[in-house]
Amino acid sequence: MITYENVPISKLTTMRLGGPARYVIEIESPQDIIDAYDFVEEFHYRTFILGYGANTIGHDEGFDGVIIKNRILGITKTDLENGAELEIMGGEYWDDVVAFACNNNLTGIEALSKIPGFAGAAPVQNIGAYGQELADTFVSAEVYDTKERQFKTLTKSDMQFSYRHSLLNTSAKGRFFVVSIKLRLTYGQMSRPFYKSIETYLAEHNITDFSPQSIRSIVSAIRADKLPDPLEIASAGSFFKNIYLSREEAEKAEERGYPVHHGQDGHKINSGWLIEQAGFKGQLLHGIRVNEKACLVLINESATSYQDLKKARDEIASTVYDKFGYWLEQEPEELQ
Ligand SMILES: Cc1cc2nc3c(=O)[nH]c(=O)nc-3n(C[C@H](O)[C@H](O)[C@H](O)COP(=O)(O)OP(=O)(O)OC[C@H]3O[C@@H](n4cnc5c(N)ncnc54)[C@H](O)[C@@H]3O)c2cc1C
Repeated sequence: MITYENVPISKLTTMRLGGPARYVIEIESPQDIIDAYDFVEEFHYRTFILGYGANTIGHDEGFDGVIIKNRILGITKTDLENGAELEIMGGEYWDDVVAFACNNNLTGIEALSKIPGFAGAAPVQNIGAYGQELADTFVSAEVYDTKERQFKTLTKSDMQFSYRHSLLNTSAKGRFFVVSIKLRLTYGQMSRPFYKSIETYLAEHNITDFSPQSIRSIVSAIRADKLPDPLEIASAGSFFKNIYLSREEAEKAEERGYPVHHGQDGHKINSGWLIEQAGFKGQLLHGIRVNEKACLVLINESATSYQDLKKARDEIASTVYDKFGYWLEQEPEELQ
């Protein structure tokens, strides 16, 4: 277990905002988790579990408590009849997990390539992209229950997965520290129809190889073209969630001429479209740039405080609401 004091949250999160955290504890073994929570209990500190910080926003006043990070590494593959089960320690970088699966010709997570973050955070908001989401292959998570102070297994049904949600960011937010996750993957390839942008890429480049490795390269290329690399550009990825509608709401939206996508996951309007139609595409507001190629992504170009981000967010959300009647919900969590 490694402990640091007074660490700027701006250095721990990809949006690069936020004042100092009193302590940061890096967990390197299950015993470290017990020791860390003993320390927290003894001094009555508040805690926040942090991964890579790609979906978390720091506040200007910092965090007067203990940030606990899972840095336990390792991937174990167990062969099954037509595939394999992977046990992934929570400190693994998610894209390394996808690379491992693709190298082993396993399908199930190749469309989740290049999502920044640690494996331990992947179930929290049920990461998803290009037609796949973590829930599709998820088997279980080994967690430390910080309330009952014991290790437990949470199965897929325990996790209550839905779009960008799970037990871990709703009713049991902050309670379970994810130690590791298990995924079940199969040999083979994704089946058609693929996500529209993948189909377009295949057609434009005349590609007929749908192997996990090939889809990974395609998704990586599409993402590199429109999404900022968090190592170079400060952002938290999609800043707003898409708008999911009931069937009746979707019909009304279509009558008004709004583009509604009907997929297996329901009826949705792309919030990026709403932001673009509201006139924010490429705009700079309080140091925050609305990404030109994907309006859902807000980039911290020159904002110096959380307040700048808050002003930009509220301006975008209220303009979209006034124009369309949909309230945009923020995707990244606030570290508080
Ligand atoms: C450029 C960019 C592109 C992105 N694209 C996508 C995308 O396509 N699809 C998508 O779904 N997301 C996307 N995201 C969001 C982000 O990558 C994911 O949410 C990712 O899972 C965050 O991982 P993290 O380790 O950075 O989590 P953090 O931001 O560190 O934490 C996120 C949440 O998980 C909790 N948490 C973290 N680790 C643990 C743990 N071990 N146990 C319990 N709780 C934990 C935290 O408390 C917090 O609530 C993108 C972000 C960026 C910056």
